[in-house]
Amino acid sequence: MIPRTATTWQTENWQKELASAIRDPRELLQELDLPMSLLAGAQQAGEQFPLRVTASYLSRIEKANPDDPLLRQILPLAVELDTSDGYRLDPVGDLSASPVPGLLHKYHGRVLLVTTGACAIHCRYCFRRHYPYAEGCANSTQLDQIIEYIQSDITITEVILSGGDPLTLSNSRLAELFKRLNSISHLKRIRLHTRLPIVLPSRIDQGLLALFSEQARQIVLVVHCNHPNEIDSQVSKCLVQLDQIGVSLLNQSVLLSGVNDNIVSLTELSERLFAAKTIPYYLHLLDRVQGAEHFEVERDKATDLIQQLRNLLPGYLVPTLVEEKEGAPAKLPLTTNSL
Ligand SMILES: *Cc1c(COP(=O)(O)O)cnc(C)c1O
Ligand code: SF4
Repeated sequence: MIPRTATTWQTENWQKELASAIRDPRELLQELDLPMSLLAGAQQAGEQFPLRVTASYLSRIEKANPDDPLLRQILPLAVELDTSDGYRLDPVGDLSASPVPGLLHKYHGRVLLVTTGACAIHCRYCFRRHYPYAEGCANSTQLDQIIEYIQSDITITEVILSGGDPLTLSNSRLAELFKRLNSISHLKRIRLHTRLPIVLPSRIDQGLLALFSEQARQIVLVVHCNHPNEIDSQVSKCLVQLDQIGVSLLNQSVLLSGVNDNIVSLTELSERLFAAKTIPYYLHLLDRVQGAEHFEVERDKATDLIQQLRNLLPGYLVPTLVEEKEGAPAKLPLTTNSL
């Protein structure tokens, strides 16, 4: 749903694009000249976690290629319905780390606010694919409680807006949220975890750029991009614009079998990100969420890939390979064998 408020009765272009995202597997297969033999599986798996993709992202997928690395991230497959041991509904223990509904406080100094359940695309490997957003998302009463919680703990210096995708909120909703957060004097930074600059670059409109520029606190944007083909000229342009107004840009990726588990993709991803002013931050091992087992990359292969990257690129273009363990005080880096 598109959130509306009194000041944004007019639907912005990006909101129209968001509303017209493709949700019908048949339409997707037709658009991409893919065999209809994929339809039944896509429909079945889509019942559990629906297909959703923007036209912009779709335009970067190669036609008639069932193995396209971008397609693999969004096309529901029958294999998602297999259940196996060790793959859970809430793989990282988020539901038990919530002091107030809509707020996660797992790590020292920073809290994560679940602002919305909406995303512009549905990534098949998403660890929140089973998250109960209806209960776990901050509504306005909970927002009061959340602000109070942050206010009362001076060790919290950074608020992370996450979701879903916080940039699916309108500029006026974000402005309200920023205003509330601004009242908390011990906050140093506001961070947003978002895939929208990558999957719906038109979202970075003048209103949003103006809102970010006005903030006294430092804005950190952690985008989510897994493959170099996701960065076309429009994406690159919007990242550069964000950099120009002083936003700090980082990227997190998930290491995904059949998508980016090869040295060529990872090298090119780092290069293209940096050319668009974005530093590779984390490369995550897959969270073991039910339905995503076919994306798993072996740990040895993962550490080997990072070692190869380190041998090919300057240190600042090598993301930290991390995994998330329930109860751990931070994301855990994986160690590589030094040569
Ligand atoms: C990943 C995560 C963070 C951010 O961790 P950084 O290492 O600071 O990027 C914060 N809170 C929660 C609940 C997280 O899952
Ligand atoms: S955009 Fe992020 S939160 Fe949304 S489905 Fe993709 S990985 Fe999950």
